Amino acid sequence: MDTCTVPPDLFEAEHRALLAAQATYDSCSAAAPDRCHQALGRLLTAYERLLRETRRLVRRSDRAELEMTQLNHQLQELTRQLEYRATHDSLTGIFNRAAIIDLVNRHFVNQDLALIVLDIDHFKRVNDSFGHPVGDRVIVGVVDCLQRVVPATASIGRVGGEEFTVLLPGLSAEAAEQVAQAVRQAIEVHAFDLPDGSGITASFGVSWFPAGGRFDDAYNLADEALYQAKRNGRNQVARALGPTVILAAT
Ligand code: GH3
Ligand code: MG
Ligand code: MG
Repeated sequence: MDTCTVPPDLFEAEHRALLAAQATYDSCSAAAPDRCHQALGRLLTAYERLLRETRRLVRRSDRAELEMTQLNHQLQELTRQLEYRATHDSLTGIFNRAAIIDLVNRHFVNQDLALIVLDIDHFKRVNDSFGHPVGDRVIVGVVDCLQRVVPATASIGRVGGEEFTVLLPGLSAEAAEQVAQAVRQAIEVHAFDLPDGSGITASFGVSWFPAGGRFDDAYNLADEALYQAKRNGRNQVARALGPTVILAAT
């Protein structure tokens, strides 16, 4: 409410009637017969009490309405936070597995989709050598590289401990492979500041699937390509062409 304007008195008319009755009561008390005077007095008392109580109720109802509005805002904020937590990874802030599956399936309703799946190479060694918190920092660093390199239209998700998926709507398999190469290079040269000065690499699988597909179709193809990249020596990109996999030169 605007604090500069005085709210209109809801009971202005009643207040004026009360003042008029009071004036009549005061002026005619001597002349009027007793019963009439007493009845007007009782009516005035009851009417004043009624007006007081009604004003109090209106104030209470205004406060309740204000509290309801504030609670409603809090509820909306909590709903937003819950929705965010249900769809995002708490360590990196990118989409979680469930959200990625949902996004992919929704894309496939009427669009083709290129997908990159990447997995950090020898990540267990990082944890074993330097501890879990350093491993966590590496995961965050890899996500930084992804966010810097992928196009703005891409969606990034963490689908496993050290495994990520990138959705590339509107891109061909070849264009998605170029994006994967760019991310691979970005990770390879990124300063992860590991205690022994070593670097981090990742392996990539790329798939493309036409509209009408499902997450499992596209993901399994990309995952197959990813493991070919791993078997072939890691730090490389492999692209799936249906059941065939092409290993890209690094
Ligand atoms: P490869 O090159 O074949 O992928 O080997 P890898 O060592 O990366 O793979 P492996 O599956 O053997 O190990 C993955 C490790 O990732 C094991 C697990 O403890 C670790 N990990 C999973 N989630 C997290 C996490 O949130 N934080 C950290 N620090 N480690 C994680
Ligand atoms: Mg790994
Ligand atoms: Mg893995």
